Amino acid sequence: NLDLHEEGYIIDVTEKSIIAEARTDKGAFYALQTIKQLIYTNNNLYTIDCILIKDEPRFTYRSFMLDVARHFFPKETIFKLIDLLSFHKFNYFHLHLSDDQGFRFKIEKYPLLTKIGSTRKRTKLLGGGYDNTPHSGFYTKEDMLEIINYAKRNFIEIIPEIDFPGHTTAILASYPELACINQNYKVAENFGIKKTSLCITKDNTYDFVYSLLDELIAIFPSKFIHIGGDELRIANYKKCEGCKKLLKESKSKAKFANHFINKIASYLREKGKIPIAWNDYINYNTNYNVISQHWKPFTKNKTIKEINEGRKTIISNFFYFYLDYPYSMTPLHKTYNFEPVFSKVISPDNIIGIESPLWTEYVPNDSILEYQVLPRLAAVSEVAWTNRELKNYNDFTKRLKHINEIYSKNYLNFHQNATKSYSLITRLIKTINWFRGK
Ligand SMILES: [Zn+2]
Repeated sequence: NLDLHEEGYIIDVTEKSIIAEARTDKGAFYALQTIKQLIYTNNNLYTIDCILIKDEPRFTYRSFMLDVARHFFPKETIFKLIDLLSFHKFNYFHLHLSDDQGFRFKIEKYPLLTKIGSTRKRTKLLGGGYDNTPHSGFYTKEDMLEIINYAKRNFIEIIPEIDFPGHTTAILASYPELACINQNYKVAENFGIKKTSLCITKDNTYDFVYSLLDELIAIFPSKFIHIGGDELRIANYKKCEGCKKLLKESKSKAKFANHFINKIASYLREKGKIPIAWNDYINYNTNYNVISQHWKPFTKNKTIKEINEGRKTIISNFFYFYLDYPYSMTPLHKTYNFEPVFSKVISPDNIIGIESPLWTEYVPNDSILEYQVLPRLAAVSEVAWTNRELKNYNDFTKRLKHINEIYSKNYLNFHQNATKSYSLITRLIKTINWFRGK
């Protein structure tokens, strides 16, 4: 049907037939996902109600992020997640491949990144203490090609992220000469923002970053590459002559950080790729070549100003879309009712879409992972597909019963009572207990 949106579809279920129409293979694929979602069991019979649906996404960028650095997940888990993402009609899957606690993708030119940087001796536990168990793991190029192809068959693009110049302790444990101070670094065992970062005035840093990006460009077909660019600490930069001088000239931390971000972004643009960075310093960047991923709710006004001036932006506000927090803190209705086009935005087209990240500091296995994301992915998907005026939480919770039945039949560990509401005080107590590891 040539009148339909590229990703849109029509489904007409009558007593005699089920007819699906689409313009593209992708639209037909989404029609099939919706048909799957419509089927439920009634007195042991598979049932589908008569319905007419005309659907198309609100946003062209609908993404989920998995942090495989804090905890590594094997490719089998990634395949399972791709199945879940396509079932919920997401079209991007962002892999956070490096952080202080681990480097997870084998780079041919820099083998120590995975030889040393993919293993830590132990891991901090929620509530305190350590597990005293080594944690390691990484993807080879072959693994990644398998993941990329599996995703492609499900109409999903894999976006790689190597986080620089902060969040780089695992890189510096492997190649300490890339830091301002060349000393012994070890892969981080606990969490929080570290002082370690790449020197941003030494030539060898850029040789390293460009070579690494070249390997990513050769493997990942996506037009997007995420370069991190968040949560930088300045202390160590003051101990290096070159960075100390640049810091003084820059007059601000943001301008200093953007010296690095802009160089990397220009490099990627020359290679035909579109860089994405977390919004921390991007909010102070005058170069609109970089897509901003807005995660910090307190910088909303700056983000709105930039969107209106032409910055392409992805919305990932952590109070609503970070799936690592407990349901008591981020209940399902809060995620569902989130409106990504903030009031005062006059150029909504610059919001290319939304992304829900799962940071895995305290997500050590598949079972907890599934619990954190299900059924939240269903809520995030509706934010991405449904126009503001058509969203209805009560209606969503009724339809969610069918979705939950499907999770259950697939042996997924989803939150079975995610729609139950609690008083504010109960939520507060539950949240405090969660952070205490109880
Ligand atoms: Zn330096």
